[in-house]
Amino acid sequence: MLSKIITKLLIVDDIPENLLALDALIRGEGRQIFHASSGEQALGLLLQHEFALAIIDVQMPDMNGFELAELMRGTEKTKNIPIFFVSAAGRELNYAFKGYETGAVDFLQKPLDVQAVTSKVAVFADLDRQRQAINIQVKALEQSRREQETLLSELRSTQEELKLAVRMRDDFMSIVSHELRTPLNGLILDNQLRKMHLENGNMQAFSADRLQLMNARDERQITSLIRLIEDILDVSRIRTGKLSIRRAEVDLSDLVEQVLDRYSAQLSESGCTLSSDIARGVVGTWDAFRIEQVIINLLTNAMRYGAKKPIAVRVFADDQFAYLQVQDHGIGISEQDQQRIFEQFERVNANKSAQGLGLGLFITEQIVTAHQGQISVASSQGEGATFAVTLPLQASTSPSDS
Ligand code: ADP
Repeated sequence: MLSKIITKLLIVDDIPENLLALDALIRGEGRQIFHASSGEQALGLLLQHEFALAIIDVQMPDMNGFELAELMRGTEKTKNIPIFFVSAAGRELNYAFKGYETGAVDFLQKPLDVQAVTSKVAVFADLDRQRQAINIQVKALEQSRREQETLLSELRSTQEELKLAVRMRDDFMSIVSHELRTPLNGLILDNQLRKMHLENGNMQAFSADRLQLMNARDERQITSLIRLIEDILDVSRIRTGKLSIRRAEVDLSDLVEQVLDRYSAQLSESGCTLSSDIARGVVGTWDAFRIEQVIINLLTNAMRYGAKKPIAVRVFADDQFAYLQVQDHGIGISEQDQQRIFEQFERVNANKSAQGLGLGLFITEQIVTAHQGQISVASSQGEGATFAVTLPLQASTSPSDS
């Protein structure tokens, strides 16, 4: 980089032969010499370039060397350029140029002393090289300081992201353990109760209808445990891009009917009534298992957050799309929260006693988009929510298909 440094020298003389002679004297590697045959031309060049030195003939028509030097001194860009005056006259000229004491000024007499000229020029050329080298280093330092700053701010934001990730993981772990404990506690309690009945020989506690009830309760707890575990697994599948979609012909109308049927006990437990409007024969190529997950997620949310008010489920289609809508009249979701409920681990009231993992809608949206469909929510707080899923009946193959 330093080898690219060019030192620029300006020589000013109205006699072309003098310019050529001086040029021959001072030229050298890493030097660029500019010729000016008048003060005016010199000023033009001085404004365009950064010169290490100006060698100016004193006797010139129009503007003499001292006048040119005065003008240079009055201009910020040129006032510090060292000047060598060249003159044929005697030493008294040393005093002809007043007020330039501060600048680097020297006087060369004609005929020029070759040795003196070359060594004096070399001093200023070297100074200029060093100044340029320092400038380059300062710029490089400045550049690396800026790069360091950028790196540092990237590091800071990564650190913030990491902290957030760790906090989310911790929150998630505590929610998971809480959520797993709820059905587990139910199972443990029932189990202890049965043990107690057995120990006390209380066999009427195991009559056929009581056993049936126990079984149903166990099944519900186990199902919810399995669902929790499946949700957690799904999230990691989504993260690693391994959520597979196995398409086959699916009758959405039948699928929804079956889910509603299966969840009728839970529905009546939730206190919500259900109305359904399901068009027959809405058939498309989807992954039945995944679409069932979507239906279940939306339905269980409607029951959870439905405030014992009516729930409506609709299925219909046009020539291109199937539509599934689940509407409740419960607590609703503010516009602000509507943005984030589809994110993983997002629950509107995270500090309330935990209701779920905040994964359902995240997984639901991932499944829907893997089917090239869309999901949206329309809601206002206190007035319930309508979740609407649109699925293309026939999808072009997507990378997540298997
Ligand atoms: P969760 O397991 O917590 O229900 P979801 O991802 O299914 O997780 O939902 C995220 C959050 O969105 C819920 O915690 C809840 O606050 C809100 N939400 C989802 N569905 C409804 C709904 N039908 N009515 C009101 N709020 C809802």
